[in-house]
Amino acid sequence: MQWLGAGRYLGPRRSLLESLLMKLLVLAGDGIGPEITAASVQVLKAASDRFRLDLEFEHEAIGHAGIERHGHALHDRVLARARDADGVVMGPHDANRYPAEHKTYPNPSSIIRKELDLFANLRPARTRPGVPAHVESMDLVIARENTEGFMADRNMYRGHAEFMPTRNLAQSIRNISYEGCARITRAACKLAMQRRRKVTLLHKAHVFKLSDGLFLKAARDVLADYPKIETEEVIVDAMMALVVRRPESFDVVVATNLYGDLISDLTAELSGGLGIGASLNSSLERAIAQAAHGSAPDIAGRNVANPTAMILSCAMLLVWLAARHQRPDFRQAGECIEAAIDAQLKEGRTRDLGGTLDTDAFGEMVARRVARG
Ligand code: ATP
Repeated sequence: MQWLGAGRYLGPRRSLLESLLMKLLVLAGDGIGPEITAASVQVLKAASDRFRLDLEFEHEAIGHAGIERHGHALHDRVLARARDADGVVMGPHDANRYPAEHKTYPNPSSIIRKELDLFANLRPARTRPGVPAHVESMDLVIARENTEGFMADRNMYRGHAEFMPTRNLAQSIRNISYEGCARITRAACKLAMQRRRKVTLLHKAHVFKLSDGLFLKAARDVLADYPKIETEEVIVDAMMALVVRRPESFDVVVATNLYGDLISDLTAELSGGLGIGASLNSSLERAIAQAAHGSAPDIAGRNVANPTAMILSCAMLLVWLAARHQRPDFRQAGECIEAAIDAQLKEGRTRDLGGTLDTDAFGEMVARRVARG
């Protein structure tokens, strides 16, 4: 695994003791969030002990708990702590069920991605032994641009990019910038160089000649610096069929925001379902581990949710920290967690994957595997 990192900014000044600790902020969130983040923290603690990572955990309230404690689903104070942390573990939110005055738009997740400029949303999809999948073999990463595109709640400096000029006409504005496309492609290329060295660009430039045309221009310019990478350009609607027909042929797939949002749900489902869909939102300076799925209110509080996606997202965060701080021990820890998940999935799973294990039992077993190596 390799996730982009290694920027030059090293965060706020700290004491020597503090600088030895790696501070992770845990935001449990709504629905199944508290259950899956608790399981993930247990696994991270096991990794920290085994690899002597000196992880320090802080907790803050967001979502319903944030409204109760701070009067806001994502209070500025929480945002400031997220900015100062070395990394963030964030559970899902259920903004639809917030009290009317707190039905924020943008929701907590959109706010944090925008405020921290987390431009890269990396969503791996890999078939895993023991996990029923719709395809035989898949091991790819969607590199989704995370700050612009069609996402009307976060693609403007101020205001909102959807509006209704008349009662029966709604319009949305899509933002595509050269630099936005270039930086996500750079992140994808760094990742591809650590993998199978293939990058696929998703576009619909024959229709969106200017916007997807600019995406292709920026991406091609970046790819020119990576002659060892094989490049493929695929029309986004054709991709929906191709990823089913020949999933094994894709390595790193670069997409603007909405295309990436759609295709990554498809690849997660094809490879085994939402319960295993990990995701990392990152810039060069900051990263947030956040499972690709939502808050699953239908199963919340019953100890049946699958924590795999959240745990794998945390493993991605450790690998990102390894690159950022030149700490190979963090990479080892991240890879150890992924191996422990694979070993555990072969032997026992949660109910969504046809098993019988509860959330906490699954987390406990993965933590034990990490501890003993
Ligand atoms: P949201 O609006 O927060 O995205 P949603 O219900 O539309 O919520 P999800 O929360 O992702 O979408 O849930 C979709 C379905 O997948 C639900 O039936 C849910 O129970 C199931 N699901 C999602 N995540 C998990 C998980 N980690 N473990 C087990 N089932 C899950």
